[in-house]
Amino acid sequence: MAEFNSLSLYLHIPFCVKRCGYCDFYSNTEFDREIISKTLDKILISLECSLSELRPNKIATIYIGGGTPSLIPPAALGAFLESMNSMLGVVEEFSIEANPESLSREFLEVLAECRVDRISLGVQTYSNELLNWLGRSGGTSALDRAENLLDELWNGRLSRDLLAAIPYRKDRLNRDIDRASVNSPGHISVYELTVEEQSSLAEDSKKLGELPDEKTAVLEWETALRRLKEIGYVRYEVSNFAIPGEESQHNLAYWRMQPYLGVGPGAFSTIPDDRSLAVRRSETGNLHTWLSLPTGSYVESELSVRDFALEHFIMGMRMSEGISTENFGRIFELDPAKLVPKALSRRIASGDVISKGGRIRPSVPGMDFVDSILMDFALELDEFCWPASYDWP
Ligand code: SF4
Repeated sequence: MAEFNSLSLYLHIPFCVKRCGYCDFYSNTEFDREIISKTLDKILISLECSLSELRPNKIATIYIGGGTPSLIPPAALGAFLESMNSMLGVVEEFSIEANPESLSREFLEVLAECRVDRISLGVQTYSNELLNWLGRSGGTSALDRAENLLDELWNGRLSRDLLAAIPYRKDRLNRDIDRASVNSPGHISVYELTVEEQSSLAEDSKKLGELPDEKTAVLEWETALRRLKEIGYVRYEVSNFAIPGEESQHNLAYWRMQPYLGVGPGAFSTIPDDRSLAVRRSETGNLHTWLSLPTGSYVESELSVRDFALEHFIMGMRMSEGISTENFGRIFELDPAKLVPKALSRRIASGDVISKGGRIRPSVPGMDFVDSILMDFALELDEFCWPASYDWP
């Protein structure tokens, strides 16, 4: 393995009370304490094994996601986190996802005792009708209870996830933003609803017919952007808004193309190999198979120069800070501006992209056209004659 300075960790907890209508993240709805405990043990063993193979100089961030990590019984969660802490020491940012219906007093107490410093709460909307439409468990009574517990007991960092482009109700998204920003949590994510192919919503034509048309969705989104700005949240990534200094360091590591290790069924990693090439590692997306396989059973593939460079564009252009020319040059020995000269000058002229100060970044309006900018870039990247290798990280 190549020597590298810092690694981010993602741990996947594959359990949910029920499947939300739109989601295709890997999770199971049939589980008991024993299977949770086996899964946590196996995550720890896999983590230890991967870290002894990779030997990063430090662990920068940890993110426990899912699935629904707040479903882990508090005593089991406490033991799991203690083991992680003794294996990894203190990290820069330690986040966990929580869903309102399973967020408890004991859960919050365990997090505080075990140095977890950031919660990402899956709100989606404060409308009971729309939570039902989305097929979320819990409803607003669970949400109110969770919010009260957070007010009373949580002193750490907090992010709330909201959804846009769900059935339109007048001022709904702005009301949700106002409610999500009470007590000024540092971070709010507003994701556009994506109906994943494998989800139940994808097959429900009646419900799909209730989704807003493009014009309505754009107007709602623009109003939301104005509201978030008015109340002090800076859009640092297409769907993520933070009070300055409260950005998610873990997600920034993904977007800045830093190495990360994912552990758990269905988890992915991007890590360097001994030729300094990026390797995409995928763990099987089936809990029972994952539990039965020996630790270290995963599929790996090296990323080609072209694919890895394209990923730098895709991830970098999602952020307001954009792509660092210096960082890109260090990895590929290429100037990113010279890879896409025609598309770049067209997009600079139309005001969608700014190329200045060693960075290529979307302009404020350009952040809403990132997909189309990237399509332009990808066409030109395909014409490029790529060198044989690169040197990452
Ligand atoms: S959205 Fe979250 S809670 Fe709902 S099924 Fe997906 S992972 Fe589970």
